[in-house]
Amino acid sequence: MSSLEQNDDDKRYCANCIHCKTVRVPLGDGRNYQLRIRCEAGQWKKKLGEEKLHKYFTVSRRDASECPCYETMGDSEEFIRELKKTLPIKDEVYSPTNS
Ligand code: SF4
Repeated sequence: MSSLEQNDDDKRYCANCIHCKTVRVPLGDGRNYQLRIRCEAGQWKKKLGEEKLHKYFTVSRRDASECPCYETMGDSEEFIRELKKTLPIKDEVYSPTNS
């Protein structure tokens, strides 16, 4: 491994950070919703400064290696491996009866 490559054990993901939270965003009449992730430390911003939410199914791809606010929740490698098994592959619509 070259010195530029990062060992898997050293990789940091937002999904494994204490500030990464899953939220429900209501759709239409409010009965259905989609899942989004938000950074409670306020690190995700749009160009004009308002908070940016990301789609839940992308959470395992959020790289936290440059984030100054990262706080680990434990073993990242194992956690991300298990998370990838359960994540939807696209932006799903949920209703209270199938959640
Ligand atoms: S942007 Fe930083 S503080 Fe926010 S969830 Fe990711 S690692 Fe955590």
